[in-house]
Amino acid sequence: MSAFLPYSRPDIGEAEIEAVTATMRSGWLTTGPAAAAFEREFAEYVGSDEGGIHAIAVNSATAGLHLALEALGIGPEDEVIVPTWTFTATAEVIRYLGATPVIVDVDPVTLNIDLDDMAAAVGPRTRAVIVVHLAGLSLDMSRVRSLLAGTEIKIIEDAAHALPSSTGGTMVGSLKYSDVAVFSFYANKTMTTGEGGMITTRDPKVAERARVMRLHGIDRSVFDRYSATTPSWAYDVVAPGFKYNLPDPAAALGRVQLARARDMRDKRASTAGRYLTGLAGLPLTPPHPGAPHDLHSWHLFVVRLTSEAPINRARFIQEMSTAGIGTSVHFIPLHRHSYWREFLGLDHKRYPVAEAAFRAAVSLPIFSRMTDADTQRVIETTRDLLS
Ligand SMILES: *Cc1c(COP(=O)(O)O)cnc(C)c1O
Repeated sequence: MSAFLPYSRPDIGEAEIEAVTATMRSGWLTTGPAAAAFEREFAEYVGSDEGGIHAIAVNSATAGLHLALEALGIGPEDEVIVPTWTFTATAEVIRYLGATPVIVDVDPVTLNIDLDDMAAAVGPRTRAVIVVHLAGLSLDMSRVRSLLAGTEIKIIEDAAHALPSSTGGTMVGSLKYSDVAVFSFYANKTMTTGEGGMITTRDPKVAERARVMRLHGIDRSVFDRYSATTPSWAYDVVAPGFKYNLPDPAAALGRVQLARARDMRDKRASTAGRYLTGLAGLPLTPPHPGAPHDLHSWHLFVVRLTSEAPINRARFIQEMSTAGIGTSVHFIPLHRHSYWREFLGLDHKRYPVAEAAFRAAVSLPIFSRMTDADTQRVIETTRDLLS
């Protein structure tokens, strides 16, 4: 009997351990030089040599999404459109600000937001949309932008799965067609700082507001305006801010992971390639692999069992677990959670694509440290169960 294979596992090497211990030896445990270096390197990574990108390190993607909406001025009268096929964090941040999420269905091929449904949901109170690059399959952001052309609606990318991802040569996070992108460095994401996240934006006002609100609403530049010589103890509080800064040991870990992000992605892409070949012909719909020249991060590998499958999704998950293989479901759609259903008065029938996908979806193991033998074991077990 082989060891249990989880559906995801972080890839932490000696270089990460050394980088973290070095920060601890430096004596600087909160946000400092490592976080500043991480922000510079991240802006360069997603923006190549174009420049103009502000990267703001935070202690989670949830914090980053909250800061992004706050900096864009979203408030109680506003509506923000989100897809139902996502993690609750995408929508909960809208409620933090007293605004209302408008939850729409997803595309049957990609499971990313359905762009027609998104456009149809725009109303007089719509101030923003948050799109999700599900599993790391980048949405075509130029289409989102053109559908919202002529409006003041802000476009936010929940890029929690999308490092590194690109479409049409544009890296997610480089903001060619959007206002803000937010990445997650949670333990099971494509790179990790344990807990952490990064905001990118080209808007200097959004960047400044997010930086101030990330740390208690403290603004040293405001104080500078009133005093010619600023002593080091002096600061001014301009708003009731939050405590969302990323500590240096986490940032040091992130710098090493960022340098390895492409290599880790290529390893997941190799697993994905083996799955696509090895699972062909089975009664399941494989994930969309993206256009040939696009970069898919392959954070997740979500298959959907078809009606021809000999067992249902619940039984498949149970049998895989018995065979020592971990799986998961990404996601239970928002409209199926009691809070969202009751607060917004949602009806399952409003989401036919997500409903069908939810009954059938299961995430197979994919992570950079998977061996070819691990991948083969998943393929063979899946073939046994579904043939
Ligand atoms: C993980 C995840 C988040 C939240 O990330 P945290 O860093 O844990 O706050 C947000 N959106 C999506 C789609 C996610 O998968």
